[in-house]
Amino acid sequence: MPGPNKNNDRRVGFTATIPVEVIYAAGYKPVDLNNLFITSEHPTLMLEKAEAEGFARNICAWIKGIYSVVLEHDFRTVIAVTGGDCSNTIALAEVLENRGIEIIPFEYPRERSRKLLTEAMEAFMSHFHVSWAEVQEAKQWLDRIRMKLRKLDRLTYESNLVTGVENHLFLVSSSDFWGEPERFEAELDRLIHETHKRSPIREDIRLGYLGVPPVFGDLYQLIEEKGARVVFNEVQRQFSMPFFDEQDIVGQYLHYTYPYDAAGRIPDIERAIRERRIHGLIHYTQTFCYRQIYDIILRKRLSVPILTLEGDRPGNIDTRTVLRIETFLEMLRGVAG
Ligand code: SF4
Repeated sequence: MPGPNKNNDRRVGFTATIPVEVIYAAGYKPVDLNNLFITSEHPTLMLEKAEAEGFARNICAWIKGIYSVVLEHDFRTVIAVTGGDCSNTIALAEVLENRGIEIIPFEYPRERSRKLLTEAMEAFMSHFHVSWAEVQEAKQWLDRIRMKLRKLDRLTYESNLVTGVENHLFLVSSSDFWGEPERFEAELDRLIHETHKRSPIREDIRLGYLGVPPVFGDLYQLIEEKGARVVFNEVQRQFSMPFFDEQDIVGQYLHYTYPYDAAGRIPDIERAIRERRIHGLIHYTQTFCYRQIYDIILRKRLSVPILTLEGDRPGNIDTRTVLRIETFLEMLRGVAG
């Protein structure tokens, strides 16, 4: 069981989406370290601190950012996703362990196997001394919020009342529900209610966003300034567990596409292209990330044009990338006629 830190506030950081129901069932407060890094006041400073401590320039920004926020915010316990995510996390976890931080591993199995995932979840639950019944109870509680997130998503692509960035921010934050599900739900209710007063957004180009969340701060706003809109955030939507109505929690995390192969992502993306009338896709890749290689498969298998963007350090989009987005949108306008 994780020990209290000097803030005595029961926070547990994590490096990638985990079955958060387990943490809530145990009475701890989960914190997605990625979100904490990217929303920090000076994310670039976080990178510089990690580099000053020896992290190489060619290590991805998210790894360095996570390292710095763990120390900056005095986390005593971190859940490291060592299977189904990034191999850099394994070394990061060792470095943090050397700094005296308790590391709890969570490993998605390589293949989508109910048996293996059940075992992985049981090992994880044993760290927190919670039972299946307690985890299932936490699931029911969070499912109520997940249902509202599904509604927000529909309000984005069916009713056209929600912007791409609003969709992104709520879905990406559903990995930890800000560690305060009640506050998260209240803010979500407020936004959903506010949409009643809005008029539908009328963009001429509808985009899907694929890949890890962007390190850029202004991508969605820029796309909307150029007359287009993101109506599908692939990975962020996955974080929200749109399969929450799976009766059991293992089934829910078996449907989660992020930890598994690219082939499993294709039907989910193709369904979204049809359902959401998407003209083109932006595939965001992070500099120095192995996930860039998936671009080959996505380009081969998906049915609409793809623009691949690469981001390195936090900040606004550079001029060259702005030009590439503009050219892509013009091309899509030409195709859409
Ligand atoms: S962006 Fe890629 S390299 Fe960086 S932490 Fe995520 S999976 Fe790992």
